[in-house]
Amino acid sequence: MKIIDKIKKSDKTLFSFEILPPLKGSSINSIFHCIDKLIEFEPSFVDVTYHREEFILKKRADGSYDRIVTRKRPGTVAICASIQNKYKVDAVPHIICGGFTKEDTENALIDLDFLGIRNILALRGDNAKTETQFVPEPGGNRNALELINQVSNMNSGIYLDEELQNPTPTDFCIGAACYPEKHQDAPNMMSDLNYTKRKVEAGAEFLTTQMFFDNKNYFSFIEKCKEAGINIPIIPGIKPITNRNQLYLLPKYFKIDIPFELSNAIEKAKTDEEVKQIGIDWCIEQCKELKATSVPVLHFYTMGYPDITSKIAKQVF
Ligand code: FAD
Repeated sequence: MKIIDKIKKSDKTLFSFEILPPLKGSSINSIFHCIDKLIEFEPSFVDVTYHREEFILKKRADGSYDRIVTRKRPGTVAICASIQNKYKVDAVPHIICGGFTKEDTENALIDLDFLGIRNILALRGDNAKTETQFVPEPGGNRNALELINQVSNMNSGIYLDEELQNPTPTDFCIGAACYPEKHQDAPNMMSDLNYTKRKVEAGAEFLTTQMFFDNKNYFSFIEKCKEAGINIPIIPGIKPITNRNQLYLLPKYFKIDIPFELSNAIEKAKTDEEVKQIGIDWCIEQCKELKATSVPVLHFYTMGYPDITSKIAKQVF
């Protein structure tokens, strides 16, 4: 079922979560283990991230290096199919521009359509680790807007090959990302909002936010979206802090702020267990406040810690 229809049908805040494919060489059981821990909360959908290729240097016998292309977390599409098959829960693959030509994207979407996957999250994707800014694949989509246009075209039966006779339209519900504290490449919030609005006009039916730790940022973003004419569901993305390092790593990688009250409490904590508990308690309060304002969904970034998400969900749902 389409996520937008689930949201429209429901009169309560839904529960969903995001998982990462396991590292290459690991079994799919870690995914099943994660879902088993959270299935009691009746997730409306499960997002599965997509990770682009990386370049690694491998030393040759003569001391020089080979540049090897590798994908450390493959398997997004297969994981989605297996989740839908095993748990009868809708899976939402993340589809990215990086590393994909438009032809690759079209073929990936055909696979998803044939597998009965009805929802996707359309993203530009992270930079390659060796690049300081995003570089699209030659012949690929340059940003999420172009990707959404491509999916919307397929939903209207327009494929890249114009010679096709009566091509079957796909029927994807398209989600996109948004940033309550602004995307790092955007010169200002207004510009970011304008591009977000264009993603909606191109066919995005729901938005999922970057993680945030101060609900005021989410509430004020919702107001700005309304003023800009963005009127689709905006799903808050939630992540509890689980260790001390994240105080520094999360702002660095995701360009988000950690409120002083939270950072101060974590800095004063004496043990790792205490840090974890502070993170969980903060997250529970955040979720309760968000739920009280009837957000459509609380979407958890599990990041390999389903037990923590479970502890929070028990208090909130
Ligand atoms: P876009 O919407 O394309 O925006 C990127 C930047 O370009 C913004 O600054 C925007 O203002 C600007 N911009 C947008 N359109 C245009 C335009 N037409 N012309 C000029 N500038 C423009 N990354 C992964 O690699 N894999 C994942 O699975 C993944 N999942 C994510 C899930 C969520 C919910 C979120 C919030 C992020 C996720 N990311 C993932 C990270 C995401 O790919 C990065 O944040 C990326 O840098 C931006 O992606 P986007 O889709 O928001 O990009």
